[in-house]
Amino acid sequence: MSVTQGIDVTSAQLNVLLLESDSNYALSLKQVIESNLSIVVTFVRTANIARKLLEQNHNRYFIGITSVLDLDSNTFEKVDLFSEFHLPVIAIVDKYEDNLRNQLIKHHVIDYVVKGNQFDSTYICDLILRVRKNRDIKVLVVDDSKVSRFIIARELSLQQFKVVHAENGLAALQKLKESPDIKLVLVDNQMPEMDGYSFTARVRETHSQDELIVIGVSGSADPRIAVKFLKAGANDFIAKPFNYEMLLCRVSRNLDMLDAINYAKNLSNTDFLSGLYNRRYFFEQGNKLLSALALKSSDEESALTVMIMDIDFFKKINDKFGHDVGDVVIKNFASHLKAHFASDLVARIGGEEFAIISESPQYLNNFDTINCFRQAIADQVLQVNNESLRYSCSIGVTSLVGRDLDEMVVHADKHLYVAKHNGRNQISGSLAN
Ligand code: GH3
Ligand code: MG
Ligand code: MG
Repeated sequence: MSVTQGIDVTSAQLNVLLLESDSNYALSLKQVIESNLSIVVTFVRTANIARKLLEQNHNRYFIGITSVLDLDSNTFEKVDLFSEFHLPVIAIVDKYEDNLRNQLIKHHVIDYVVKGNQFDSTYICDLILRVRKNRDIKVLVVDDSKVSRFIIARELSLQQFKVVHAENGLAALQKLKESPDIKLVLVDNQMPEMDGYSFTARVRETHSQDELIVIGVSGSADPRIAVKFLKAGANDFIAKPFNYEMLLCRVSRNLDMLDAINYAKNLSNTDFLSGLYNRRYFFEQGNKLLSALALKSSDEESALTVMIMDIDFFKKINDKFGHDVGDVVIKNFASHLKAHFASDLVARIGGEEFAIISESPQYLNNFDTINCFRQAIADQVLQVNNESLRYSCSIGVTSLVGRDLDEMVVHADKHLYVAKHNGRNQISGSLAN
C-alpha cells in the first residue's frame, strides 16, 4: 500500500502519469512539462506498470497522457485504463483522422494532440495546467432541457469542472446567490420563467465580465441571437449543436482570459518588492471601507484604525550595508506585517513607509498588540554578510474617523512625526474612546 493513500493530496502536489512506449519522445515531453509547470511526471512504458501504479494509488495522479497510434482493437486499452480509474486522459496521435477522432471522443479522452506539431508540447502544457485549475472551478449550466443539461454537464465534468444545474434564468440567479464561487455560466436562450438574455442582463447588474463569465448557447439559426446575448453582457456565444472540442476551446479560452485579467489586476495592485498592496490600492480600498462605515447605523459596532509605520534610520542601513540589504530589510518588515496584521489591509505606500487600515475594534482602547509588533521588530537580529543587523520602526495611529482616508492618513502621519521626534522605536496615537 502506498504511503500517501488516504492522505489528502492537494492539487498542487498531484502528478501526471505518462504511458508511452517511445522513450525518447516521453523523456523529452516529461522534461518540458516538469521544467515549465513544476509538475512531476511519472513515465512508464507499459500498460501493466501503469495499472500497478494506479491500483496502488490512483489519487496521486490528476491526468494521464498516452499515445494512440492506430485503430486496431487494442489501441484504446490504454485510454480505457485511465478511464477505469476516473483519470482524464490526453491522447497523442500521429496524424489527424476523422475516424480516429470520433473514437477518441467516444472513449472520453479530454483532448488529442498531433505528435510532432511544432506546438504540441506547449499545447499539452497549457492543457495540463487548465485541467488542474478546472478541478477547483464551479460551472453553472442553465437549460430547461434536462437532456441538454446532461450532455453539457458530462462534457464539462470530463474537463474536471464541478458542475451545477439550473432549469431557467430565475433558478440560475438563485444558484449564483447560493454559490458565489461559480466562475462560469453556460446559458440557453429560450426558457420559461426567465430567458437567457434577461438572465445575462440581470447578472451584469452585480457581476462584471471579468468576475463571472457568461456564455450564451442557442440552437436557433438566427444570427441575431448571438448579438443579443453579447449586447446583454455575455462574454461569448456558442451555437448548438456544437461538438466537444468547440465547448472545450471556448470555455478554456474564456477562463484563460479571466486568469490573465486577474493576474494583471494583481500586478497593478501590488508592490513588486514587498508583495504587499501598493499605495493606489490602499487608498482605493481604504476609501471604500470608510464609505461603508458611514452607511452603518450608530448602534452597529464599527471601528476604523489607520496606522502609518516608518523604518527608523533606514538611510543609515542602506549606507552601511548597501541597497540590496536595505531591500532585504523591507521584505523582512513586510513579512512581519503580513503575519501580524493578517486580517487587515496592509500596504507599502512609500520607500520605507507602510500603512495599515483595520476594522478591528481592538485598537480603539489601547495599542498593546501594535506595541507587541513594534517590540518584535526591535528584538530581532538579522544576519547579513556575517554581520548582525537590527532595526526598529516608528508608528503613528489614529482611530478618529475622518471625512476621507487622506484626512485619517494625515492625522496618523502627524503622530508618526511625534514618534520620530520623541526618539523613534515607539508609537504615538489618538484613541477613539
Ligand atoms: P527616519 O528614521 O527619520 O525615517 O530616517 P530614514 O533614514 O529612515 O528616512 P529617510 O527618509 O531619510 O531615508 C529613507 C531612505 O529609504 C532613502 C531612500 O534611499 C531609501 N529607500 C527608499 N526606497 C527604497 C527601496 O526600495 N530600497 C532601499 N534599499 N532603499 C530605499
Ligand atoms: Mg524612515
Ligand atoms: Mg520615510
